[in-house]
Amino acid sequence: MAQVQRMSRLMIKTLRDDPADAETLNHKLLVRAGYVRRNAAGIWTWLPLGKKVFENVARIVREEMDAIGGQEVLLPALLPKEPYEVSGRWDEYGDLLFRLKDRKGGDYLLGPTHEEIFTQIVKDQCASYKDLPVIVYQIQTKYRDEARPRAGVLRGREFQMKDSYSFDLDDAGLAESYALHRAAYQRIFTRLGFDYRIVSAVSGAMGGSASEEFLAPAAAGEDTFVDCPNCDYAANTEAVTFKAPATDVIDHGPVEELDTPDTPTIETLAQHLGVPASATLKNLLVKVDGEIVAVGVPGDREVDLGKLGEHLTPAAVEVVTAEDFEGRPDLVRGYVGPQGLEKVRYIADPRVAPGTAWITGANKPDTHAKNVVVGRDFTVDEYLDVVVVQAGDPCPSCGAGLELGRAIEIGHIFQLGRKYADAFQLDVLGQNGKPVRVTMGSYGIGVSRAVAALAEQSADEHGLCWPREVAPADVHIVAAGKAQQIELALSLADRLGTAGVRVLVDDRAGVSPGVKFTDAELIGVPTILIAGRRSGEGVVELKDRKSGAREELPVDDAIARIVGE
Ligand code: ATP
Ligand code: MG
Repeated sequence: MAQVQRMSRLMIKTLRDDPADAETLNHKLLVRAGYVRRNAAGIWTWLPLGKKVFENVARIVREEMDAIGGQEVLLPALLPKEPYEVSGRWDEYGDLLFRLKDRKGGDYLLGPTHEEIFTQIVKDQCASYKDLPVIVYQIQTKYRDEARPRAGVLRGREFQMKDSYSFDLDDAGLAESYALHRAAYQRIFTRLGFDYRIVSAVSGAMGGSASEEFLAPAAAGEDTFVDCPNCDYAANTEAVTFKAPATDVIDHGPVEELDTPDTPTIETLAQHLGVPASATLKNLLVKVDGEIVAVGVPGDREVDLGKLGEHLTPAAVEVVTAEDFEGRPDLVRGYVGPQGLEKVRYIADPRVAPGTAWITGANKPDTHAKNVVVGRDFTVDEYLDVVVVQAGDPCPSCGAGLELGRAIEIGHIFQLGRKYADAFQLDVLGQNGKPVRVTMGSYGIGVSRAVAALAEQSADEHGLCWPREVAPADVHIVAAGKAQQIELALSLADRLGTAGVRVLVDDRAGVSPGVKFTDAELIGVPTILIAGRRSGEGVVELKDRKSGAREELPVDDAIARIVGE
């Protein structure tokens, strides 16, 4: 018998109005429908209905992880500092890490992710090549002191993650473990009812090579991604690469100086000369490990400092300040041009291609120069793809105009390689008797975030609208109000429960039918069954929450229909 939950006995208080502090749809609806309650910024309680949805998501994740041979474990969230010092992340994480001291003054942290600890465990448990490969995972609470925990359950400071880790003897093994996870994630997100894309990602602070993100397109998403309307290319905006078009080298005429008073910005310059911003060359000065470097991009484009940082890592990239210009007469603020920058390394976007001519600073106040040709008047030291992607940029795969979208990162898979194995000297005895350094993958799914992301993707103007596998019940029975209707509703609940259907039954006395119907829509169970006006004749109404389609049916037919679904 599946569970029958009576609303009269359920700890739930639905709200008509959005909570005052809610900015995102998942926050508004999950609170209004009584699924979660906010305790503090980024810290949430799962109420009974929310806990059910959460467990349904977790169950699907578990089933698919077990199916690829994952072994479930549970690690502590409270961790000693030392392993994170070994990996360097005690410092790298900065303010994101919750740090605390015990009574003896020892340093601890609340785990933001567990690569270090899993590496230690495998070092402890696996000694020989015969013990590998291994996939271990947990569904566990993570802690990150996020700068902006404002998106409801989407971005918690305490949140639930499924994190798994693979340990292999060689690169081919790692590729296989990665492929297993990728396929498992596809099954998980399909079963959960997500609309999602797999995009190649930049590896960020984790360090490593191949990495892909699973993105759920949604307005509340904090990630921007590009989608090709013509082929299956999709990517994180920071991972899009641009192929420089072949340029015709033409004779542009000699460099000419232009009198351009008060035009230190591209905007003022383009306006003064009456040319499009794209005809000008923007030279952004940055500091790379303290040294001033110029980055040239077309004037209508922005430099993506994240992308630049990725290219130059591990060097640190900073923006320049007024002080950096002191003692540098070669750097004329607002009027910098690459043709005069002899001692400065010049990085350019591929759009600043050899043979192209630009209007750019003349390295004198209030003066610009035109016909400054790449390769003739200055040289580019290094080409890097560093501009912020724009809608309409060519797809690297087919050339069609890319579209930009917002999305929620619901999962992330990563070929870490030997970064942590090196830090912890994780070796096993190889077949030839010599030690072999193990190679690792790490793979995350935001389980609590997935609940919020599903809420975002499936909700409509009436409220939540869960995909069946994750819904807190299969059917929501509404007893319109009279004692006879409540009695019918409870007997329907009983019959359905016996048949294995998960039932939520609104048997509350003294609550108006209108309120009950509104609550049923808000709560978002996929099928709504109403014991209303025609209860006396044994006729009930069946309503599909998503399509809104409704139909009157004799009780037995309604039950047969629901059981058959
Ligand atoms: P984000 O870029 O959104 O901060 P991340 O790249 O730092 O996420 P990972 O370290 O890759 O996240 O963590 C694995 C998964 O955990 C993410 O794909 C996401 O689904 C989830 N996750 C990460 N941070 C949070 C959070 N603050 N609240 C809820 N879920 C999170
Ligand atoms: Mg990530």
